[in-house]
Amino acid sequence: RNNILLIRGFMILFLSCVTIRINLSFSSIPSTLRAIPLDGHFNFDEVHLAARDFGNRYQFLPAAVLHPKSVSDIATTIKHIWQMGPHSGLTVAARGHGHSLQGQSQAHQGIVINMESLHGPDMQVSAGNSPYVDVSGGELWINILHESLKYGLAPKSWTDYLHLTVGGTLSNAGISGQAFRHGPQISNVHLLEVVTGKGEVVTCSEKQNSDLFHSVLGGLGQFGIITRARILLEPAPDMVKWIRVLYSDFTTFAIDQEHLISVEKTFDYVEGFVIINRTGLLNNWRSSFNPQDPVQARQFKSDGKTLFCLELAKYFHLDETEVANQEIENLLSQLSYIKSTLFQSEVTYVEFLDRVHVSEVKLRSKGLWEVPHPWLNLFIPKSKIHNFADEVFGNILTETSNGPILIYPVNKSKWDNRTSTVIPEEDIFYLVAFLTSAVPSSTGTDGLEHILTQNKRILEYCETAHLGMKQYLPQYSTQEEWRAHFGPKWEVFVQRKSAYDPLAVLAPGQRIFQKAI
Ligand code: FAD
Repeated sequence: RNNILLIRGFMILFLSCVTIRINLSFSSIPSTLRAIPLDGHFNFDEVHLAARDFGNRYQFLPAAVLHPKSVSDIATTIKHIWQMGPHSGLTVAARGHGHSLQGQSQAHQGIVINMESLHGPDMQVSAGNSPYVDVSGGELWINILHESLKYGLAPKSWTDYLHLTVGGTLSNAGISGQAFRHGPQISNVHLLEVVTGKGEVVTCSEKQNSDLFHSVLGGLGQFGIITRARILLEPAPDMVKWIRVLYSDFTTFAIDQEHLISVEKTFDYVEGFVIINRTGLLNNWRSSFNPQDPVQARQFKSDGKTLFCLELAKYFHLDETEVANQEIENLLSQLSYIKSTLFQSEVTYVEFLDRVHVSEVKLRSKGLWEVPHPWLNLFIPKSKIHNFADEVFGNILTETSNGPILIYPVNKSKWDNRTSTVIPEEDIFYLVAFLTSAVPSSTGTDGLEHILTQNKRILEYCETAHLGMKQYLPQYSTQEEWRAHFGPKWEVFVQRKSAYDPLAVLAPGQRIFQKAI
């Protein structure tokens, strides 16, 4: 009799498992989701639109796209999945502006949340002594710029391109030429509202639920969905002096960059890029830079050598032009660039910050924006940047690079080690960004295969030379690789995952956690 009871028990368990799996098969997902009460709606028809990204290389079709109208839409949906338990297999990816490179904002047969549909309260600028703006997690940085400028204010830390969402950049770090001074965008946030993987809506900050706050910043979307953020602001300038100077020697270039990010009185923005061949000497695709002395630019002869371009910006108010000019003269006199290669431009603050968008519009009109982008972003410690430059710019990349190669240093002291972002151990480290576009179906040096092989060679070199490199916007697919990427931070990352998203529902496209842990 006991045996019969046992067998019946097993049968019931087996059948209930089968039922759960049948219930949650791909085809039954729409009816499961339609039952969820929402202010917004699910879309089951145009899901292919959420199965692509800027990288243009990975396509994972979701089962549904949620267009939330409220935070509660997001919380209710995730809570619903949480209550279905581990067997549902359903995952959720927040999609900001979809500017990931390898499917990070996609969810194969899961739910993609279109964060730009989220209409929270309007952006609210607080213009007191420590000004800030409260924004939705799906807000584009360009909109935040325009709104805060109405109060004469602007965020302190930027990315080079502003058509990205707050939630998307805060899930990585958000860096540009202001980061040496203000830190990345994740160092300039005071408060977040987050929906965790259990569907709980939690407000967090340095002081309140601080572990969740730090987890989510740079957290690759693993711990919660950022639905609201409080971004620090500063008084905005009117105009920007935008300067480029050239170097033929990497060591001199790096000494000057490091000098500029270390002194008190300096430029407001310090970046740089590598010019492997002579085309695009001053203008490359990510910039609308238009120097006042283009004749001189055209006359400059590099003799085919690799050049290093230091890019600088000084902000100023219209009534302070003279002071700005003097400060620039003083700072430039401390640098050792090739003296005939000083190129200057003067633009409005908005023109400067939104510079990459100008190129986007041009490239789109030529059908060159939606091509594969096998980008590679690396953080290299200062002590190894010379070895890196010798090998990579001297041996690996000797031909034309089909897209800009950025290189600039930042100060580690401006990064908070409690966040999830992984950076090298040294006080100064460089961002080196290979922002390559591949020509579709080309089998030549501008084709995808060739560029991927080059990327692989660069990564292999970093590995064998023990450079202490860390990937920014990291792209790994096995847990071993992720474990190595996080290094000593891995255990904490795993603990945080089991605290805030124990079923591993969130951001499956990062390929860190494959199933419930
Ligand atoms: P998505 O690609 O949609 O999402 C990225 C990841 O974040 C995904 O895993 C997604 O699930 C998750 N996510 C999205 N929204 C949320 C949310 N609200 N809450 C939690 N998780 C979320 N980066 C820099 O740091 N500096 C630069 O100068 C820079 N320039 C760039 C220029 C271009 C042209 C492009 C295409 C990218 C650039 N990036 C730069 C990289 C960019 O910051 C990242 O790709 C970022 O993730 C894109 O934001 P997004 O809104 O499109 O996010």
